Amino acid sequence: MITKILPVSPRSLAWAKELIESGEVVAFHTETVYGLGADATNDAAVKKVFALKGRPADNPLISHVHTEYDITRLVETPAWTKRLRDRFLPGPLTMVYPSKGKVSPFVSCGLPTLSIRVPSSPTAQAFLRAVDLPIAAPSANRSKHVSPVTAQHVYDDFAGEIPLILDGGPSQGGIESTVLDCTGSVPLILRAGLVTREMIASEVGACEFYTLHEGERPKSPGMAYKHYAPACRTVFFAAENAEEAAQRYAQEERDGETPVLMCEHAVAERYPALRALDLGNTPEEMASNLYAHLRTAEKTATVLIGIDPKERGGVMDGVRNRMLRAFGQDAKERHDDA
Ligand code: AMP
Ligand code: MG
Repeated sequence: MITKILPVSPRSLAWAKELIESGEVVAFHTETVYGLGADATNDAAVKKVFALKGRPADNPLISHVHTEYDITRLVETPAWTKRLRDRFLPGPLTMVYPSKGKVSPFVSCGLPTLSIRVPSSPTAQAFLRAVDLPIAAPSANRSKHVSPVTAQHVYDDFAGEIPLILDGGPSQGGIESTVLDCTGSVPLILRAGLVTREMIASEVGACEFYTLHEGERPKSPGMAYKHYAPACRTVFFAAENAEEAAQRYAQEERDGETPVLMCEHAVAERYPALRALDLGNTPEEMASNLYAHLRTAEKTATVLIGIDPKERGGVMDGVRNRMLRAFGQDAKERHDDA
């Protein structure tokens, strides 16, 4: 199969619709990362997504819809959730509701819930409007690999295996959507993202991070899995150990390795002689740069030396969660999966 990368046009959208209706898979741009989409009502198409990714069969998919789609066809929407939709959608917030069982049972892996996202990306909206179906879509990377933030990243993982990638340019958000459980009376963050706990709490009064207790069935099965791993070796240092990280860089070079640093801008500036993948200054810049840098690292280095950014809370909850897991740290502070 030849994999085509096309921008949105009447022709590419007509083809995307044809592909989705015939049970094929189409990758598409969103404002967070690229998605690998299939008709959520078609069992075989949903199974194809799991098979292509090598995704564990108990890690549910998010259903994506356009802004005019009536989600009450698919889920129960508790009254208090309206404020969150009005404030944050379309955008990088996925809301988990009690399901009405209208999509394939494979989407939610047997859970009684369904997660819904309304992306703000014009490319995603054009695609979702054209098909006018709920599109089940995980990130368009092989399971455990770094999520894709360009059409080329998707191509690198799936060339020859999917017919079409709808190119909308780089995904500026850079980390996956916040996943919010809305099945109780207080929202619970299952995965941290660009819509933060603080932002949600300011709308509805309270918002907590979900923590998995010993022996409990996880609310979000994806939490159990390691993710975002680049193909090169990784080493990780705490923010206060930047000097040690620089020494490690020198040691790796002496050993004949090709190291690269990944750190926030202020730290990169302190070591102008070392090759660094600069995450930037703000939490939003760090979110936007993280996956692109991880993919660059695996192509250009044999060892990636990460230094933890200093800032905590807000968007950094999501950034550090991804970063710690990419570096194989057992992130005690993690609140998610992906
Ligand atoms: P990905 O598709 O790779 O971005 O991952 C989707 C994330 O959403 C995973 O962490 C899933 O476990 C989570 N998720 C999707 N649907 C549900 C659901 N119905 N209930 C709880 N978590 C969900
Ligand atoms: Mg993913």
